[in-house]
Amino acid sequence: MVLECKHVWNYISEFLDDSLPRETKELVQKHLENCEICSAILDSTRNILILTADDRVFELPAGYGERLHARLAREIHSANRRPENPTRD
Ligand SMILES: [Zn+2]
Repeated sequence: MVLECKHVWNYISEFLDDSLPRETKELVQKHLENCEICSAILDSTRNILILTADDRVFELPAGYGERLHARLAREIHSANRRPENPTRD
């Protein structure tokens, strides 16, 4: 099974929560190592989680999906503009 980016995006929050089955997690991890777009999105999502982690209340607000998709579009756009610049903490 080969993960496409859109699959990885579905898994990102569970990936960050470490709640994926091990095989799935490894597939996601492998994809992230080879895909700058998804690793940029992972970083962004992690930052969002850090910002919202105070209460650890995980109700997604209405409109979250739309905003996330807008954000993904921006990330993809900027990732395309800097092809060889992986960000690491
Ligand atoms: Zn990807």
